[in-house]
Amino acid sequence: MAVSIDPADYNVRAKSVRGPVPVFDRSKHAHVIENCHCYLCQVEVGPKSKHCSACNKCVANFDHHCRWLNNCVGSRNYKLFLHSVISALLGVCLILVVASYVFIEFFLDPTKLRTDKHFLEIKKWKLRIARGKKGD
Ligand SMILES: [Zn+2]
Ligand SMILES: [Zn+2]
Repeated sequence: MAVSIDPADYNVRAKSVRGPVPVFDRSKHAHVIENCHCYLCQVEVGPKSKHCSACNKCVANFDHHCRWLNNCVGSRNYKLFLHSVISALLGVCLILVVASYVFIEFFLDPTKLRTDKHFLEIKKWKLRIARGKKGD
């Protein structure tokens, strides 16, 4: 959801005209946004909006352009961005817990890890061999 939501400024979304991107003339203007007007989007934007060069649009309450999400993070998707970061961290923690359990148990008691059916067959087979040797 953090990826699919368009974080663009309200006026940029309202304009929604698909056409050639206007070229910014540095000799005319020092900044892309001056007095809450974006010369690239050609709309009035909010005071905290910033024009993202990667997305090529103004983003409301711009925080940063996220490379991992390939989307900008602004006021519209900031909470969703935080949720995705937290869920990724929780996922990493879960993998670390499971991996360290398997790693430690491998040295303490590896039979606990061998719960699959074929391990049971191997156990029976080994027992049969051990009994056979006793009988000899
Ligand atoms: Zn803009
Ligand atoms: Zn961006």
